[in-house]
Amino acid sequence: MCNTVAMNPGIDHTLRGGWTLEGGKLPAHALRWLRTRTGLSEHPTPVAPDSVLVVPEPELGEAARADLVAVVGEEHVLLDRTARLGRAGGLSYVDLLRHRGCGQLAVPDAVVLPADPDEVLAVLKACAEHNVGVVPFGGGTSVVGGVSALRGDKPAVIALDLVRLNRLVSVDPVSRLAVLQAGVRAPEAERLLAAHGFTLGHFPQSFERATIGGFAATRSAGQASSGYGRFEDMVEGLRLATPVGELKLGVAPATAAGPGLKDLVVGSEGAFGVISEVTLRVRRAPTHRRYEGVFLDGWDRGHEAVRDLAQQRVLADVTRLSDAEETEISLALTGGLKSQALTGYLRARRVTDPCLLILGWEANSAAELAARRAATLRVLRAHKPVRLGKVLGEAWRHGRYNGPRQRDALLDAGVCVETLETATHWSQLSTLRSAVRGALLRSLPGAVVMCHVSHAYETGASLYFTVLVPRATEDPIGQWQTAKSAACRAIAPLGTISHHHAVGTDHAPYLPGEVGELGVRVIESVKRELDPTGVLNPGKLLPVPPKG
Ligand SMILES: Cc1cc2nc3c(=O)[nH]c(=O)nc-3n(C[C@H](O)[C@H](O)[C@H](O)COP(=O)(O)OP(=O)(O)OC[C@H]3O[C@@H](n4cnc5c(N)ncnc54)[C@H](O)[C@@H]3O)c2cc1C
Repeated sequence: MCNTVAMNPGIDHTLRGGWTLEGGKLPAHALRWLRTRTGLSEHPTPVAPDSVLVVPEPELGEAARADLVAVVGEEHVLLDRTARLGRAGGLSYVDLLRHRGCGQLAVPDAVVLPADPDEVLAVLKACAEHNVGVVPFGGGTSVVGGVSALRGDKPAVIALDLVRLNRLVSVDPVSRLAVLQAGVRAPEAERLLAAHGFTLGHFPQSFERATIGGFAATRSAGQASSGYGRFEDMVEGLRLATPVGELKLGVAPATAAGPGLKDLVVGSEGAFGVISEVTLRVRRAPTHRRYEGVFLDGWDRGHEAVRDLAQQRVLADVTRLSDAEETEISLALTGGLKSQALTGYLRARRVTDPCLLILGWEANSAAELAARRAATLRVLRAHKPVRLGKVLGEAWRHGRYNGPRQRDALLDAGVCVETLETATHWSQLSTLRSAVRGALLRSLPGAVVMCHVSHAYETGASLYFTVLVPRATEDPIGQWQTAKSAACRAIAPLGTISHHHAVGTDHAPYLPGEVGELGVRVIESVKRELDPTGVLNPGKLLPVPPKG
């Protein structure tokens, strides 16, 4: 049962428990639609005021505090309730419920704010000496428990917030490389790079808040990954602070000097060290863009079209296929189109099960854009698309970061709303989609389950599911966790447990199934070498601390 409270408009959502206060309202037509489709009866749980949440007294010992103060200064070791609550977990549905008074929050004992890579290194050494756990904290947008302030076997745990590592260190325009500190948030990174005529091209839905270090630590994938690549494709090198010293990687664009250590660090989720700087491959900022909406008839035709585009190497930079449920719902929730008129038009064009495909091209000249667009559309023609021009494409582009705001509003309205994702090979894609849908629907009867492909490769694609169902009043956390476990069990034999959200705590039990016991032992042995006392991000990536 949640500790429900009256709506408090004074709560700062940018600090905790949601995305932002702006635009967090659902339009009346969307609420009406939800009530009809899900049987929702309003059961609001707004973000709880600080005062009703249980925040234990900080347990950081005086000697540890004094050593941390000696490194970063008194004003950068925060013990107050607001600062600690602001770093108590990430933005999964369960984290958000906890900030709404359901269940127990894991609150760090202190928040420590180093200023540069040397201070990060010194903080880690001090924490190892005093046996204090360290949770690296970037934008705090993890949806898999990655920033939960778990102590493991440690007497205390700090959140190491990288917000002060906010500089563009250097740009090499000849090689098209930029060095950014780990705490730079994505919009600021784009602003800093734009001054040099460059872009990173990394636009995940968490763009507004997530950081360069967080992207590297989680192998993030942006919405334009078909064009610009995943974040790991952008990483040329990095600096990793560990309790036993600093690892510096990336002297050349490619190397045969042994196995890829960079790949060990990218995706290590703060369990091997703290990424303090990243050297990134940058591109010339595009001067021309075109986003379009296309309808395809049914999921099978839709995903075959995306496979064809991928295998003939003519994917648009953004290639995003929604299944029929997601198409219906996104049109209903945005209210952007007169649905009946559209349905009639599509029927007349023999599209009875419309699946929306968003295509977006970004280029440095009109000719380049025209040539790439023509190549995509030539291949698409065989799949009988109904093209609707720029309206839907541009609407998607302008609303591409609205999801988190809508989620806050849905939570306020009493909806259980969460997403999960996976990836697999083309030959398994439809089987995997059906298995996950089935598992979710069996656990959450009456739920709306929608799915899209947003990252396509020659050999396979990602699947991203969104679930909407009225929230259970008695045990809302259990309601979702049961469904999520069922979905993970369905995913395990068919695909990866995460395509881009990472492992965190939530997926850790499924890692051995994916990489094998030997794979887990390799990860454990790397951790032991870099973090011998096990202070780094307890309980993440690996479910239990390695022995010995
Ligand atoms: C609404 C929403 C939409 C999202 N959309 C996408 C999407 O489109 N694509 C996508 O890939 N992800 C998405 N995510 C997930 C999330 O944004 C990514 O995992 C992101 O990469 C995390 O960045 P962050 O800076 O917020 O990291 P945090 O959440 O702060 O941390 C994530 C993990 O990395 C560790 N970490 C953070 N910084 C460092 C560092 N400098 N060194 C070592 N470890 C570190 C943390 O301890 C934690 O384990 C979404 C999340 C939300 C809430």
